Amino acid sequence: MSKRRVRPAQQQPECQPRGDLRPLPEQRYVCRCGEELRLVRAGPRINDWAHVTLSGQRYRDDRPALLREDPARWWAQLRQRMAAGDMRAAQLYSTLTAAEILGGSPGRHYHHPEKTLTPPLEQPPPFCCEQPMWASPDGWACRVTRRVFPYTPTTG
Ligand SMILES: [Zn+2]
Ligand SMILES: [Zn+2]
Repeated sequence: MSKRRVRPAQQQPECQPRGDLRPLPEQRYVCRCGEELRLVRAGPRINDWAHVTLSGQRYRDDRPALLREDPARWWAQLRQRMAAGDMRAAQLYSTLTAAEILGGSPGRHYHHPEKTLTPPLEQPPPFCCEQPMWASPDGWACRVTRRVFPYTPTTG
């Protein structure tokens, strides 16, 4: 019976973060819809960020109330208006169906940061494994090994 050669364990890079491990100052962004955005934790157990408006909204829903509550009825009414020769209904119908075909949600969008409102950060990110670290909700994360180092408290 031949024994399979045991491969040596993969050498994990040793994480030695260098630099300032204090958290970054909060940044503000603006969406193309004009809403001001900030970062919040994406979920209780998800170490990632989500963009929300200052009132905590992740997306904007500008659809008519009936379209949100009863889409089938809303579309049926729109088709009836088109059949009756309503040009505005026909226009709306083509806009909305085009958006649906393209995979978008008509009248609804997730806020996305277009521009940063706050001035550029003066604090350079710490480095680990020769990469700038990522400021995750739990702390500075190494981009190579994904190890997270808690933020050091800010003093002064
Ligand atoms: Zn590292
Ligand atoms: Zn928006």
